[in-house]
Amino acid sequence: VQSNLPLLQLLQAMCTPANDPEPGSSVVYWMRMGDLRISDNRALAQASARAVKDNVPLLVIFIISPQDYLAHDRSKRRIDFTLRNLASVQESLHPLNIPLFTTTHTPRRTLPDRVITLLKSFNCNYLFANIEYELDELRRDREVCRLAAEQNIKVTFVHDRCIVEPGVVTTKEGRAYTVYSPYQRNWITVLNAHLSDYLGEAALPSANPITVRTNTIIVPCFNATVPNKVEGFELDTADKAIMSKLWPAGTDAAEQILSRFLNTKSRTTQLGGADPLGPGAETSEKHSRISVYHNARDQGDRDTTSRLSPYLSAGVISTRECVRATMRLLGIQKVNAGRDSGVGRWIQELAWRDFYSNVLAYFPRVSMGRPFQEKMADIKWEVNEEHLRAWKEGKTGVPIVDAAMRQANTMGWMHNRMRMIVAMFLCKDLMLDWRLGERYFMEQLIDGDLASNNGGWQWSASTGVDPAPYFRLFNPYTQSAKADPAGDYIRHFVPELKNLQGSDIHNPSAKVADKLGYPRPIVEHAVVRERALRRYKNPGQE
Ligand code: FAD
Repeated sequence: VQSNLPLLQLLQAMCTPANDPEPGSSVVYWMRMGDLRISDNRALAQASARAVKDNVPLLVIFIISPQDYLAHDRSKRRIDFTLRNLASVQESLHPLNIPLFTTTHTPRRTLPDRVITLLKSFNCNYLFANIEYELDELRRDREVCRLAAEQNIKVTFVHDRCIVEPGVVTTKEGRAYTVYSPYQRNWITVLNAHLSDYLGEAALPSANPITVRTNTIIVPCFNATVPNKVEGFELDTADKAIMSKLWPAGTDAAEQILSRFLNTKSRTTQLGGADPLGPGAETSEKHSRISVYHNARDQGDRDTTSRLSPYLSAGVISTRECVRATMRLLGIQKVNAGRDSGVGRWIQELAWRDFYSNVLAYFPRVSMGRPFQEKMADIKWEVNEEHLRAWKEGKTGVPIVDAAMRQANTMGWMHNRMRMIVAMFLCKDLMLDWRLGERYFMEQLIDGDLASNNGGWQWSASTGVDPAPYFRLFNPYTQSAKADPAGDYIRHFVPELKNLQGSDIHNPSAKVADKLGYPRPIVEHAVVRERALRRYKNPGQE
């Protein structure tokens, strides 16, 4: 498959039959895993407008599809976060008399038939949903369109996930950008030229005039309450409690986290051990996080980034709202994305998110286990279960790598710089296949997102669009000294080393490590570095 953009266009073309069908007895909005909010939600707003026009109730459905979660290596944490946010959405819809129903469906390939059956049981002639850009999901939705057309049901799929949707920011020749900087420059131009289109806020849904008499329209297999677990994806009680505290559900929580990033002048040094919304061990600082973001974002030892990724991945808050909020903060009318200001740099990061969705939409092979750079497909990877386990458990004997992996294992989230360090270490120092790391991240992280995760991994493995050049290997010890100069991050996540001070913390001697019961490094960086350079230079050779 070269590109699924034609598929996307097909999807949209199929959404607009020449004649609108007669109003049925209801309008349905199909909420997906990436749009768990009621504010600024385009498909929901359009569904609501249609319901008002036809004077019929609006219903919201959410289909739990465990086979999809398995296929995408969804983490239990992400599933739990989904359900917690869904419950919050249901609560917000309640005063509006809009019911939210859930149902579980397997096997995934019959899901389109199931959707049509459900729509017919609701006597619904209008279905709305936001587009999911993953290939399997696009194919599923194309099938929904086909089946719906047979039944004279109008389906409308809407772009909502990105600020500028895939396919819009292209080269002069109309091709996809494969380098970030020109993409981002053009992205800003396009965005500023159509600000109200791209940043306009979608209306809140209107209340259903009467309480929907659920017993008259619900088929028995639909649940009126959101379950608190999905079979096969249950989180253990302790982890669920930690996740709920670290990552509280709901748009209000997301807005508070955004506001804390934009406005609060104190920054915690607690390294996420505390509730990100709680006071933690705060030190009073002069500047808000965003105002120093361009300089401080790579410091793993400081809580200086927004920590919004779980909320953006799940769509608990829209990326549009993030941009609007920064514009309000500065009182500016145009979006600026320069590297030399905190705001500009943060906007650039949001553009990376769009960039990777664009890459996924144009080159779906990247999500099918293929490297973007086909010449890298033959790189010889090691097969070493012991090394892989040590990496996953944070027991490689390289403190910064171990601290970062333990951060992911305990918090379900990892600082961006640390993600780059551990990813490089896996692919270059251990010479283990990047797909193993990509999968482990998806299984552990609460913000696991196919496009950004794949993009980040292929960047680190030097196989992706605009990747890190393979010869610029990270030295984990140098990286450690830069990202965690005083060693606070390591001390926090690797308690065996909590009493070490000075440079020892980054690379303890064998004697010190043995004494503290900390592993010695499983590889020697200077040696394995040469192996990586050799294999990357000549893919296919030892
Ligand atoms: P901030 O620095 O505050 O940035 C704001 C938002 O911009 C983020 O929440 C995110 O939505 C977006 N963003 C920031 N950096 C990137 C980036 N490099 N690529 C794409 N979007 C970005 N991000 C995910 O959301 N899900 C993933 O599964 C994921 N996997 C990654 C794997 C690897 C190997 C790497 C190197 C990066 C990955 N990222 C992923 C990107 C990035 O690390 C996280 O988005 C970021 O650390 C989240 O923290 P934050 O919300 O504080 O980010």
